Amino acid sequence: MGKSTDTGRSDKGFSVKNSRVTAGRNGSAPDAALPLPRWFHGSYHTHLVAETIAKHGPIARTTLAQLLGLSQGALSRITSDLIYQNVIEEVNHPDMKPDKSAFTFTAQKNNAGRGRPQTLLRLKSDGTCFMGINLHGSELTAILTNVSCEPISSATTLRLTSTEPQDIAELIADLARTFENQSDKRAEPRTPSAISVSLGGHMKDDRCVTHAPYLHWDGEIDLAGMVEQRCGIPTAAFNDMDSLMLYESWFGDGVGLPRFAMLTIGAGIGYALCENGKPVDYPDKSYGLAGHILIDPEGPRCYAGHIGCSQCLTSDSLAQEYTELSGSPMTVEDLIADAKTDKPQARTLVNRVCFRLGTLIAITANFTMPTTVLINGETSCIAKLNTESVRNGISWYRPSQASPVDFRILDFSWQKWARAAAGRVIERYID
Ligand SMILES: [Zn+2]
Repeated sequence: MGKSTDTGRSDKGFSVKNSRVTAGRNGSAPDAALPLPRWFHGSYHTHLVAETIAKHGPIARTTLAQLLGLSQGALSRITSDLIYQNVIEEVNHPDMKPDKSAFTFTAQKNNAGRGRPQTLLRLKSDGTCFMGINLHGSELTAILTNVSCEPISSATTLRLTSTEPQDIAELIADLARTFENQSDKRAEPRTPSAISVSLGGHMKDDRCVTHAPYLHWDGEIDLAGMVEQRCGIPTAAFNDMDSLMLYESWFGDGVGLPRFAMLTIGAGIGYALCENGKPVDYPDKSYGLAGHILIDPEGPRCYAGHIGCSQCLTSDSLAQEYTELSGSPMTVEDLIADAKTDKPQARTLVNRVCFRLGTLIAITANFTMPTTVLINGETSCIAKLNTESVRNGISWYRPSQASPVDFRILDFSWQKWARAAAGRVIERYID
């Protein structure tokens, strides 16, 4: 600490990469919000090409030009500029598989280069790293990623001893210092250029938490400012669903899908929609809009008094339902473990839960007409225990003439949610 790590290359027209300022552990606060780092300055299309390479790379120039509707000449000028600026690089490895598997765009045939190995483009990791933090329940998970949102550290999960904002900010600043001081044989830099914190709540200006009921915070909390004050690293705060949605559309299972919806099940119920690679924006989306939709007319009553609303998919509700069924205190983990060992009561409840989830998927698909529905969240694995019931739930509420709903049940880890947080500042770095 105490020394400037400004590695900006403003002499070449680049933005300052790391606007870290000197600040002691309890030192003076920066005068104003620290700007998030930007990688390079360029035209709208230059940033769009870099974003598309981040999502689809390694990708061939011909495919890229078709995807963006650019002429080969225009695209070549842009990619040359990005190569010169060290943002992207060419790869010619014979084993390099072009384009991510989720990429649904079909490239036109190009016979000109037949027989020659294709040169592909991908992001060039410039050594910059980002710290992603996800707050969940009484824990926090942190990870360092490179500019492609790939982990360059193992994930660290810590139990919160206090949920006071200043204590959480102090913990995050401590983690940044810990990562910085870890010896690294791979010679990757360890000082994050930016910190991104995600949590289940409503944010203002990507910095202030205005609504986070599970943390019991009152009023507007400048969480990003508190972290910056303690470690001098530009920080942003985002809603966790928004972060996960952006992650899936840039780096995950949503890459290349023209429109997809995402449902998360776990401590709460989340819903988000992505159109043409951009999460659909809506000012009230982080207030849990899908949290109380009727999905089982014979389901349990939620805390708000509804019968069988989507709250019956939450971990607390499932634990309570399983407790009542089995006659002894149970958790959602007990339910999953018992269903896997074919305990009848657990199987019955899981089958019902899968049908309810199918109902919610059908409602989502019928109203928002996505090509795919991604199922995410801490307890998404329940859906894998009986996909037949999920399908039955979907078809019960979907006209038989309509095409089947494509849904994917994704593996869950808090590490991914922390990476997703980092993805938000990576988006700002590239766009
Ligand atoms: Zn309800």
